[in-house]
Amino acid sequence: MPGMFIDVRVEDEVASDEKLARKLVEVCPVNIFAVDGSRLRIVEENLDECVLCDLCVQAAPPGTVTIVKLYES
Ligand code: SF4
Repeated sequence: MPGMFIDVRVEDEVASDEKLARKLVEVCPVNIFAVDGSRLRIVEENLDECVLCDLCVQAAPPGTVTIVKLYES
C-alpha cells in the first residue's frame, strides 16, 4: 500500500532535557516518545501511528520538534 511515512525530528536541546522529554511522552496520544534514563527516545515502531495532532510541536519550544511527512515514491 503506498503511504506516508512520518519522521519526528527533535533537537538535541529538547531530547536531552528530561523535563521536556517527559512532557512529550505525556502529550503524544500514540506513544511515539519514550524516556530512556533521562533522554528522549523516539519509538520508531510507533511512528506510523502519528495522527499529526501537533501536540508535541506545541509542547516544545518553537522549532525544536518537527513532524516530517515523507511519501513513498
Ligand atoms: S503529532 Fe501528535 S501523534 Fe504525532 S508525534 Fe506529535 S504528539 Fe504524537
